[in-house]
Amino acid sequence: MIDVLSVSSEVYPLVKTGGLADVAGALPAALSSYDVQVRTLLPFYPAVKKLVKKAELVVEIEELFGGAARLLAAKHAGLDLLLIDAPHLYDRPGGIYGDPSGKDLPDNWQRFAALSFVAAQLGQGLAKPYRPDVIHAHDWQAGLVPAYVEFGPGKKKPKTLMTVHNLAFQGQFGPEIFKELHLPPRAFSMDGVEYYGGVGFLKAGLQCANALSTVSPTYAAEIRTPEFGMGLDGLLRVRAGQLHGILNGIDETAWDPGSDKNLIAPFRVSTVTKRAQNKLAVQNRFGLQEDGSPLFSVVSRLTWQKGIDLLAENVDMLVSMGAQLAVLGSGEPALEAAMQAAAERNPGRVGTIIGYDESLSHLMQGGTDATLVPSRFEPCGLTQLIGLRYGCVPIVARTGGLADTIIDANTMALNAGVATGIQFSPVTANALGDALRRAVRLYHQPQVWGQMQRRGMKTDVSWGASAQVYAELYHSLLGRTPGDAHKDD
Ligand code: ADP
Repeated sequence: MIDVLSVSSEVYPLVKTGGLADVAGALPAALSSYDVQVRTLLPFYPAVKKLVKKAELVVEIEELFGGAARLLAAKHAGLDLLLIDAPHLYDRPGGIYGDPSGKDLPDNWQRFAALSFVAAQLGQGLAKPYRPDVIHAHDWQAGLVPAYVEFGPGKKKPKTLMTVHNLAFQGQFGPEIFKELHLPPRAFSMDGVEYYGGVGFLKAGLQCANALSTVSPTYAAEIRTPEFGMGLDGLLRVRAGQLHGILNGIDETAWDPGSDKNLIAPFRVSTVTKRAQNKLAVQNRFGLQEDGSPLFSVVSRLTWQKGIDLLAENVDMLVSMGAQLAVLGSGEPALEAAMQAAAERNPGRVGTIIGYDESLSHLMQGGTDATLVPSRFEPCGLTQLIGLRYGCVPIVARTGGLADTIIDANTMALNAGVATGIQFSPVTANALGDALRRAVRLYHQPQVWGQMQRRGMKTDVSWGASAQVYAELYHSLLGRTPGDAHKDD
């Protein structure tokens, strides 16, 4: 059995802003079949305190980046949690990264250095006899973990895996913070945390971890190029031998159209026609005419990355083809405004709800005909996986994990009976327009469309295969093979 400490700034169902939470929440259960037990380290944010009422003290920490803290243990939704209770760092109004207006908190470096610091201390026996064999650090917020392990004391150190869920978020700060990170001076170098003269949290993780991974094979290749590498492609090329692309899955219990309480009419492959009732509910919720028009949906952060501007350029064309569009999301003010304006221009045909609504997102996947993911880059993407499982045909840009998970309905794929969605490339407004026209044409061939839906629903989008690959990676870091006998201490 291998003990893994998973370190993440968000974990579903406790606190979520995006796909990172889904992954950190689902992977532990999936790994339990592969000789791996996972504990998850998370800040004890106010939102988490509301959900986790019973937690036991593990250890008091006298001083953690400016105040006293406590490490607590709790179980919740099948997760074995270690929670950092540090009110001076985590008790804030607003979201987990920003103030109520959405602006990044100025001391985020301290808040997440603390998360990483505690993780590394756990590797050194802070909560003895617990001592993880492997620390799995997710994204920049946990990026300093491998640096703290590498530059910290101790002979027998845990191995570290750094996973990138989105290279766009790097945690870059000025050089002045270095002296407060509790790292030795030699760590401020190219081989450590130094990045363009400042401190790079994700860079530190990518530099110091024993192994690296990202969430799809295509993204793993893309981030080694200047186009997608966001300044880190050079380092990633050097470390290409240690970089793995492992696809995300989805939690098939949380996302089960057969038993989903958010749907008006749950359905299975054999009863997919029941989706019609959910479609009416979506149309009602978005103020759309309740007719049989093809209904497209977007459930997404409304950002440049997600290609929402490309969609905005196509809305009127979509409406002129007799289709409808329902948009749920929030993000960049200009894009929120563009989608709201599109709805005002097209009453009864386009509806926009600005906000985050987990329950409505389920209903949209279970009731709309197609889900649009026109991302400029997409490390893995979960929306299209959920779409597959819910018979909501994904229309996606051919990039990152979208390229790896959807089989485009080109003539050959349709003839071979393997298509599960529509892909477009290059990622431009014109190419998206072509894809939307292709989708509307296919929608009007109910037999072909129905086959695509059913095939999507039968596609394996579970964690099974990928959990096994993670387990093999942990084992290989320890020089073992799965099934090997126990820890040697
Ligand atoms: P990212 O993590 O880049 O935002 P992913 O596709 O990996 O994108 O994951 C997005 C997750 O967040 C999915 O589970 C999706 O359903 C959910 N989501 C995104 N926006 C919203 C929203 N406005 N309301 C509800 N769920 C949302």
